[in-house]
Amino acid sequence: MISFETARAKVIEIVTARIRASATDKTTETPSTETIDLARDPSRGLRRILSEEILADRNYPPFDRSIRDGFALRSADAAEPGARLRVIGESRAGVAFDGTVGAGECVHILTGAPVPRGANAVVMHEYTRTEGDFVVVEPPVRAGQHFVLAGAEARVGEVVVPQGTRLSYAELAVAAEVGRAQLEVNRRPRVAILSTGDELITLSEKPGPFQIRNSNNISLAAQVTLAGGEPVLAGNVPDNVATLRKRITQGLDSDMLVLSGGVSAGKYDFVEQVLLDLGAEILFDAVAIRPGKPVVFAWCRGKPVFGLPGNPVSTMVTFELFVAPAIEVLGGYAPRPLPFFKAKLAHPLDEKGTVAHFLPARVSWPAEANADDPPAPTAEVLLWEGSGDIGAVVRGNCFLVVHASRLKLAAGDWVDVLVRRGTF
Ligand code: AMP
Ligand code: MG
Repeated sequence: MISFETARAKVIEIVTARIRASATDKTTETPSTETIDLARDPSRGLRRILSEEILADRNYPPFDRSIRDGFALRSADAAEPGARLRVIGESRAGVAFDGTVGAGECVHILTGAPVPRGANAVVMHEYTRTEGDFVVVEPPVRAGQHFVLAGAEARVGEVVVPQGTRLSYAELAVAAEVGRAQLEVNRRPRVAILSTGDELITLSEKPGPFQIRNSNNISLAAQVTLAGGEPVLAGNVPDNVATLRKRITQGLDSDMLVLSGGVSAGKYDFVEQVLLDLGAEILFDAVAIRPGKPVVFAWCRGKPVFGLPGNPVSTMVTFELFVAPAIEVLGGYAPRPLPFFKAKLAHPLDEKGTVAHFLPARVSWPAEANADDPPAPTAEVLLWEGSGDIGAVVRGNCFLVVHASRLKLAAGDWVDVLVRRGTF
């Protein structure tokens, strides 16, 4: 059985290679980019992948910009302690001083204001003393201090946000700064979500004693969105070969299909069989992890298909490990390594078996007065009833990774933690 690292690398490699191949023999592909209008709704830009470059429309800052409140002067005038300079005017944000600072002169200047002609330094208010129309300046004053030269942040025409960047608030701010309300972004991959199981009902139905509401549909749609895809809710399908075949075929109209349930070795687990009947190539159907061992990655009729186990926690974990990177590749975003961070284990652990474990856990930061030595985050595994127990995931904020190579851990050991997307 392959490890989760190998399985994930395989997903990235195969999706990348096949998407590239299909891009070169494009025939009926829908347009791969679209325009969003930030002025109408800035949140439309969030998490989208930029398909163009954003360029500076002028120099930034557009003028020599003061970064302090104080006085703009000629540094040579303030070489000696106690230099006395005449205040000849004011420059404030939006309203420049219209003149030149000469020898023995200075201009009162405010943060964000243009540094007037003639001046080559700004001295902070705190280092001056006002005496009528004059200020007395404490040295030293360095040429160039406390202002940003025009064009130092970006020159006109320079790339301020590169193509392929995932847009977040800073990128949107830069787009606005350079006057770009409309941006070209990659079309989000449409990901069909289909839940299998005779026991499933929809949210609007009243459950019978042995029926289960389809919650995977909802968590998967949220995970698809967080990964940068556009969820297409394809509903519930019973464990019936003919119906499954029809609904999988419909799901393949989207860019990707994600199924939940029906991938174990049970009598009513038909997903892999139906995929094979439809001519799918099965790329893997088991990964050495718990929860989530039976997980199918296939290629069917030119589309990637994932068959995730139906137990909700397994569905969540396998999505994050294998489906999220596939969505990123389809969406034109370079996939990154798994976003693990390190925490100290709060208690010993002794996991059984030969596979890696992803355990619902809670990371916390103990309060500590000493700011020079901030406390390490600690991770505590939560009690849980196995992979059906969504409540344990809710009580936590991450999954603690117990690697197959080291199943026994002591309190205080550093461990890998997989953050739950959207929680932090
Ligand atoms: P399966 O992988 O099909 O064997 O499903 C395992 C268990 O996960 C089932 O017995 C259900 O209790 C649960 N389950 C399957 N699908 C869903 C779903 N869409 N929403 C919530 N729970 C589910
Ligand atoms: Mg099932």
